[in-house]
Amino acid sequence: MSKVLILTGAGLSAESGIRTFRDSNGLWEEHDVMEVCSVEGWLRDREKVLHFYDMRRKDSEHKDPNAAHFMIAEMGHKFGKEVSIITQNVDDLLEKAGCENVIHLHGKLRELRCEMCGHLFDIGYRSIKDIPECPSCKSQALRHHIVMFGEPAPFYQKLYNELTSTELLVVIGTSGEVLPVDQFASYTKYSILNNLEHSMAINHMIFTHTFYEKATTAAPKIKKLIEKYFETGKV
Ligand code: NAD
Ligand code: ZN
Repeated sequence: MSKVLILTGAGLSAESGIRTFRDSNGLWEEHDVMEVCSVEGWLRDREKVLHFYDMRRKDSEHKDPNAAHFMIAEMGHKFGKEVSIITQNVDDLLEKAGCENVIHLHGKLRELRCEMCGHLFDIGYRSIKDIPECPSCKSQALRHHIVMFGEPAPFYQKLYNELTSTELLVVIGTSGEVLPVDQFASYTKYSILNNLEHSMAINHMIFTHTFYEKATTAAPKIKKLIEKYFETGKV
């Protein structure tokens, strides 16, 4: 349980060349989000969904973390267990920047899940087509390990548990359409919001500091505030 919680969304990885989906009118890399990110879409066309995540996984191999990912990693190393890092992102850019123990609320592109036994395993940047069976039970019923609209998200409980001890919440790059980040901010003593622009889904008045700018330019300011919090107990 940590005093500082850094909660990130697709906007964090935007400057690394991974597109967000709300910024492109409900499209994620030219695909209708509900076709490739919902249970209905999955039941309608399984191959299409698996192919979509194959492409995202392959694409992510050549993406590099940006200054905001590195700032988060630095804070994680400097303040250890006092900082928790939770992301809605399915890419591995926080890990590439050196972050440890990141909670991926919606799963990870690099992992597959066996539908028979639930076994999870890392396939790197390979295609699901190259993985013949589950290494644990040998079933061929494999799928992406990413939460779709209409499915439970088991890690949300971890987020809620973390929030009970959070004094400073740092939100970077999320439209708040999926997670009610302003409600979370209302539970915590201090909060920081960084998005490119105002989102209708977020009541920004609740936040102690707001930065409407790129995550890479906000990062040094956010870093100073986190350090100030650890020095003085305030931001
Ligand atoms: P979103 O697409 O709904 O919203 C993106 C937010 O980021 C917006 O508020 C926008 O103002 C902000 N933003 C855009 N560029 C920015 C920048 N350079 N710096 C700072 N902020 C910037 O994102 P979401 O709330 O994370 O929801 C999208 C869902 O889709 C997530 O749950 C995630 O699972 C999935 N997704 C993941 C990725 C990824 O892993 N990189 C990419 C797209 C979508
Ligand atoms: Zn299995």
